[in-house]
Amino acid sequence: MSASRVAKADGSDALELRMHIAGEWVDAADGATFETVSPATGEVLAVLPRAGREDARVAVEAAGHARGRVAATSAFERAELCHAVADILNARAGDLGRELSLEQGKPYREAVDELAFAAELFRDAGENVKRLDTGIIPSIDPGKRILTIRQPHGVVAVITPWNYPIGIPSEYLSAALAAGNCVVWKPAPTTSMIAVRLTECLLQAGVWEGALNLVFGEADVGEEIVFNPGTHAVGFTGSSAAGNLVARSAGAKPMLLELGGNGPTIILDDADLELAIEGTAFGCFSNAGQICQSSERILVGPKVHDAVLEGLVRNAESIRLGHPLEETTTMGPLNNEGVAAKTEEHIGDAVERGAAVVTGGGRAEGLPTSLYHLPTVIDGVTADSLFNREETFGPVAPLIAVRNADEAIEVANACNLGLCGSVYTSSLRHAFYCSERLECGVVNVNETPAYWDGRTPFGGYSGKASGVGRLGGMATIHSLTQLKSIVLDIEHVRG
Ligand code: NAD
Repeated sequence: MSASRVAKADGSDALELRMHIAGEWVDAADGATFETVSPATGEVLAVLPRAGREDARVAVEAAGHARGRVAATSAFERAELCHAVADILNARAGDLGRELSLEQGKPYREAVDELAFAAELFRDAGENVKRLDTGIIPSIDPGKRILTIRQPHGVVAVITPWNYPIGIPSEYLSAALAAGNCVVWKPAPTTSMIAVRLTECLLQAGVWEGALNLVFGEADVGEEIVFNPGTHAVGFTGSSAAGNLVARSAGAKPMLLELGGNGPTIILDDADLELAIEGTAFGCFSNAGQICQSSERILVGPKVHDAVLEGLVRNAESIRLGHPLEETTTMGPLNNEGVAAKTEEHIGDAVERGAAVVTGGGRAEGLPTSLYHLPTVIDGVTADSLFNREETFGPVAPLIAVRNADEAIEVANACNLGLCGSVYTSSLRHAFYCSERLECGVVNVNETPAYWDGRTPFGGYSGKASGVGRLGGMATIHSLTQLKSIVLDIEHVRG
């Protein structure tokens, strides 16, 4: 059983949830627990087992036992499982959307969109694995034939953050299972309740016993599953700092690291302003700015600066900050105190360097928790500010004035993060000029950096701190499989 109810000190009760290891819902070996608390209300949503290293080792062992059986299933059987997961996610979108909103903080409509996105990832992985072909390579020796096949890695360690707690795990779980791997998954502590729900959906769809193991806990648990010789590859999404530690723990294991971004959004003087303002505002304020692909800094040309500023202020002031389950709400609270404090720090730093807060600028008052942050527009931000040097991850639109495309590229590339960027221009020449020079893994033209269809190859630019490898459609399947060459001497085959 994944859940029961437990009495709290104040007389009310909370959900008591369990981890899923070796096909069973279990508590931590030492009985330790932790709580997830809604950023929207401050209420305890669930009490969950806090795993230790020993629990993680048991989960890795369980996945190891299931590995052979899962790898032996056909691509078509695995595709069927993926479609069944998608159907269940779609059918449960209403209930799961509410729990996702309450635990993560995003408005209900965004939560339901995330569930639909996750369902599509499962469908896509199922279809891709059926079309996973490989090459036959000409041999220098006329008596030999060389063919290549793709095989699963074995057990994949999956570690995920809290900003898209259904969508991001689904990127890995869909492709890993579709490709015949087993998984040990550790979600972010603050969104562990919704991880139980996603696991339930996979179990309901018929995932093989031991193929999906869910463990809760902190960095030590993540470190154990990454380091443990019983895991054979790593899929990690999170901050650049943690990603570097994960890379050290993983050693030479195959790795997908999807890390932080600082999305430069360039608006040139020849841009379609309505489009640019709408896309940039979406990139700044959607999910309260907690997206690795957010518009984190807006590099704006001299002729359009005032109109962009005015448009962004209008957009920010039209946002309805409130309880994520209220129908009128368009922005909910931030997920946790760490991200709220970082947002405040970056605003303070910019103001100290001479920038001006035009709207917003701090936490909202009179709401149930202190995690509600006002949508903020800040002008006159300088290239040496924290906004330009680090990821903020809050609902802020910081404007940095630039003279032209060359200066925009120079300021954008000065940051050591390089995930997604965007350029607004009506000139094809400018579009290519900027896209080819921006040190980002993805550049969207006349579209927010936050746009991603789940199929486009996605990841960090080499040499920056935004990660290694590519997610997205067939790229994820390739990352979560290994290529084997089979060399056949046909002169010595009988028959
Ligand atoms: P985080 O790095 O603090 O935590 C991510 C996960 O890693 C959590 O489950 C955490 O418990 C675990 N962890 C932390 N230290 C670890 C260690 N040493 N070994 C193993 N596991 C460890 O990140 P977060 O605050 O949860 O998420 C926000 C960050 O994620 C932002 O920087 C954001 O840009 C990034 N992110 C990147 C992408 C992408 O696709 N590139 C997508 C979403 C979020």
